[in-house]
Amino acid sequence: MSDRQTENHAEAHRWLLERVRAETCETARSTGLNELSDRVIEAMAATPRHCFVAPEQQDWAYADMPLPIGRGQTISQPFIVALMTELLAPEPEDIVLEIGTGSGYQAAVLAHLVQQVYTLERIPELANLATQRLRELGVANVVVRAGNGVQGWEEQALFDGIIVTAAAAEVPPALVQQLKPGGRLVIPVGPPHRTQDLRVLEKDAQGVVRSRSVLPVVFVPLISDR
Ligand code: SAH
Repeated sequence: MSDRQTENHAEAHRWLLERVRAETCETARSTGLNELSDRVIEAMAATPRHCFVAPEQQDWAYADMPLPIGRGQTISQPFIVALMTELLAPEPEDIVLEIGTGSGYQAAVLAHLVQQVYTLERIPELANLATQRLRELGVANVVVRAGNGVQGWEEQALFDGIIVTAAAAEVPPALVQQLKPGGRLVIPVGPPHRTQDLRVLEKDAQGVVRSRSVLPVVFVPLISDR
């Protein structure tokens, strides 16, 4: 990459963070979040999104929009990544599961905030590419596995938090089961290719689960492979 491109990326990255902060304010009434925590902003600042998109997408790497990553899939809009990360309320000791690795970007953001990230991707080619990128960036606390995430990741459960980055018709029961008491599940729920409902489910110490709707969103579908 040329010095010029590096400089353009750095400036675009700063603008993006301002945009993400502004959008957090604009949506506060719906999300209940007035601002992003410093930890989440720092994780977004420390994660180079241009490393997760193809050479032909470099000029848009820091635009606040989803971008194609091949195989009909997308890297999510940065504001949505920040919002979902904040809603997960990640703590440094947490073990987190992501369903839908895609480019690996959301996993890389989470890697800055928690102890360990497990992430599942049903398209092996994307899982391999994400693994390679994370290795090149020196991100050592993310394990990527190719496989269907609808059943969660039984061997590594329970999780402090679970984040699903594809839209489910219904909340997969296995994911609720694999959540620790006190844990949170952040998931878009709704029909494919329409507006879905971003939800946060919280399991209390007694195992009672409460759900709230946060924001209308559009995600690629979570494929159940049944
Ligand atoms: N978090 C990603 C965005 C992912 S897009 C990022 O930061 O780039 C959603 C991804 O979910 C796609 O890559 C898609 O292949 C994957 N996916 C869809 N259904 C799945 C399933 N049942 N299990 C695992 N991954 C799934």
